[in-house]
Amino acid sequence: MIVGIDLGTTNSAIAIWRDGRAELIPNALGDTLTPSAVSVAEDGSVIVGMAARDRQSTHPNATATAFKRYMGTRQTVQLGATVFTAEDLSAVVLSSLKIDAETFLGEPVTGAVITVPAYFNDRQRKATRRAGELAGLKVERLINEPTAAALAYGIQTREEREPFLVFDLGGGTFDVSIVEMFDGVMEVRASAGDNRLGGEDFNETVIDLAKRRIDPDGALAAIDPVMLRELLRAAAERCRRRLTEAEEAPFTVTALGRDFSTTITTSEFEAQAAPLLARLREPVLRSLRDSDIRVDSLSEVILVGGSTRMPAVRRTITRMFGRFPSAAVHPDHAVALGAAVQAGLKARDAALDEIRMTDVCPYTLGIDHSVADGRGGFRHGIFSPIIERNTPIPASRVGWYQTIADNQRQLEIQIYQGEAREVQGNVKLGTVRMPVPAGRAGEVGIEVRFSYDTSGLLEVDVAVPLSGTQRNLVIVDDEDAPDKAEIAARRDVLAALKRHPRDESHNRAVLARASRCYEAFIGDRRDLIGTWITQFEAALATQDPRIIDPARAQFDAALNDLEGDRYL
Ligand code: ADP
Ligand code: MG
Repeated sequence: MIVGIDLGTTNSAIAIWRDGRAELIPNALGDTLTPSAVSVAEDGSVIVGMAARDRQSTHPNATATAFKRYMGTRQTVQLGATVFTAEDLSAVVLSSLKIDAETFLGEPVTGAVITVPAYFNDRQRKATRRAGELAGLKVERLINEPTAAALAYGIQTREEREPFLVFDLGGGTFDVSIVEMFDGVMEVRASAGDNRLGGEDFNETVIDLAKRRIDPDGALAAIDPVMLRELLRAAAERCRRRLTEAEEAPFTVTALGRDFSTTITTSEFEAQAAPLLARLREPVLRSLRDSDIRVDSLSEVILVGGSTRMPAVRRTITRMFGRFPSAAVHPDHAVALGAAVQAGLKARDAALDEIRMTDVCPYTLGIDHSVADGRGGFRHGIFSPIIERNTPIPASRVGWYQTIADNQRQLEIQIYQGEAREVQGNVKLGTVRMPVPAGRAGEVGIEVRFSYDTSGLLEVDVAVPLSGTQRNLVIVDDEDAPDKAEIAARRDVLAALKRHPRDESHNRAVLARASRCYEAFIGDRRDLIGTWITQFEAALATQDPRIIDPARAQFDAALNDLEGDRYL
């Protein structure tokens, strides 16, 4: 069975294509969203999802979140005795989702379609692919999140040339894409965005508003800064979610034996968030410009990502487009459901057989070249684009160049990815070196062909027609990629990590939450939580689900009364 997975910065979700429709798969807690959080317990076992998210404030040094931001980099984080890359942590999340799906389906999951932000570059895409493989999944395909969302909205069943604009505001990234069907082919006409804008940034604005008010004397400075950050973040998240439903909401941090509290109103929040709301505009305009599509010819504006639930965001969008956006498919689920649609296509489900997918190149790909400076010399280090950003892929394009010096014997072609005019500002992907035949400057022609395919691989062919010399370079972004032995070693490390029995996840999640609350509250409320923990532990000791299950439900409800409904 092939599954579709939305591997998000904040939350992940998994779905399948079954009986002609996409269906979400719940995790061990019965939730359809699994926080992309990993924590390592004192006994060395790994915890994934909500329980890990709840340990963020109590065990900040043993817990990792938002690691998708470091995907494809060498950055590591040590949790307990194990050092992880973002790729490893993603693999841990993916394998947890895989287990959830196998439990739900009662059959093995073999392959997956995994979504990535439209802005992910080669390196990040390859890292995602490896994460899937480390989790024991055959990665059938990576697709852009907005493409998946458009599939969830059934773009493939609509008339031709009905452009959808996908507006995806998640926890840490913002993506705008224009997706269209033409000649039975799905096409991403443009993608733009800001991979540093999401719900977390809105949390920062709430913290900016609240911090001085709750703590005018700077008393909170006495707390461990990592812990304080987490407490403030959690308070902001809760406050902001309340503001989605209400005109005002409390912002409370319990620490140092007391409550630090204030109330934030919708209008205060929206005024403070105005600069962030303003940043939503430019990527929308750019996507319309790049695709040459007018706002009034968009068939749908669809909302994706948990942060599009904020009324201020919806209002900004409505004003921007002069109409209400569609949210018929829940914005939290659209990407995973669309990935499952694509998994269904992959499995040759008859209903969608006709659809062929294309994607776009998320960045411009080109080479370093020198241009005449008009005074007899050259300016070096200038980027020469070969495949432009937003070109539908697979794409193959040729660039023509000449030697710049008399009797130049050697050619060095540096391949870059990015939008900057000078190569320095772009990401270097690789180098091709080759000899060239002697000749006068400008007389030896060089043909550089780039082929970029849907799996994100770039193939570079360089030819010098005069001498017939050719060079070929594939997988150019592998410079610091791990080799086979390294991948095998990491697979062993991950496989050796102890996991808690899945059927105990629920109990563990409630206990993790209770411990967080115990640390956060004081006085009577803390004593009360302590008593509940003891009672629940007694229930667990009976090992009888008929006693444990109702005790857990009661415990969870009591915690809800205390701190408000828990959030993902
Ligand atoms: P990602 O794609 O980054 O994994 P999601 O699409 O799951 O993220 O969105 C997560 C973000 O959605 C979080 O920043 C969260 O604060 C925000 N969010 C979820 N529900 C709400 C809500 N009810 N009100 C405001 N923001 C919300
Ligand atoms: Mg997302």
